[in-house]
Amino acid sequence: MVAAIYPGTFDPVTNGHLDLIVRASSLFDRVVVAVAFNQAKKPLFTIDDRIALMEQSVSHLPRVDVIRFDSLLVTCALEQQVSVILRGLRAVSDFEYEFQLAGMNRHLSPELETMFLTPAEKYGFLSSSLIKESSALGGNVSKFVPRHVQKALVEKFRKGK
Ligand code: ADP
Repeated sequence: MVAAIYPGTFDPVTNGHLDLIVRASSLFDRVVVAVAFNQAKKPLFTIDDRIALMEQSVSHLPRVDVIRFDSLLVTCALEQQVSVILRGLRAVSDFEYEFQLAGMNRHLSPELETMFLTPAEKYGFLSSSLIKESSALGGNVSKFVPRHVQKALVEKFRKGK
């Protein structure tokens, strides 16, 4: 059995993230989506909201679990008994950071392999930050996030006004 962990801030989950999760769920026996607490990034959504939005987004995928994580990624990966860390690569701009992260994780835990997947071309430019910026200014992001995420964004920015 080969299991993978897909860590991220997911603030909020986008169709790009989900594209990767669907691809991964056909490659691995189990995919653990690990939603990072990551207070340093000052997320728009609370950890509980980010987990709830992710859970609703992957509820139709039988081999996918969602967990919260606020420890070292490799510690979490070992606790979850996975052997692969999964990350997404969109453009060359992602490469340098992801390469460094993979190198550090290999140093910390050589038995874990980092693997990269690329999303469908139409999601290659998509990021949670861009979604938040567009939504904050009233942009329609319905093509890029699930409907419940779009509702949560509208609600969040309506409250903020
Ligand atoms: P982090 O703070 O860990 O970068 P993100 O939620 O921004 O968290 O991203 C989690 C992972 O998903 C990263 O590997 C990132 O490159 C990848 N990712 C983000 N957006 C997309 C997308 N549109 N398509 C594919 N991968 C993506």
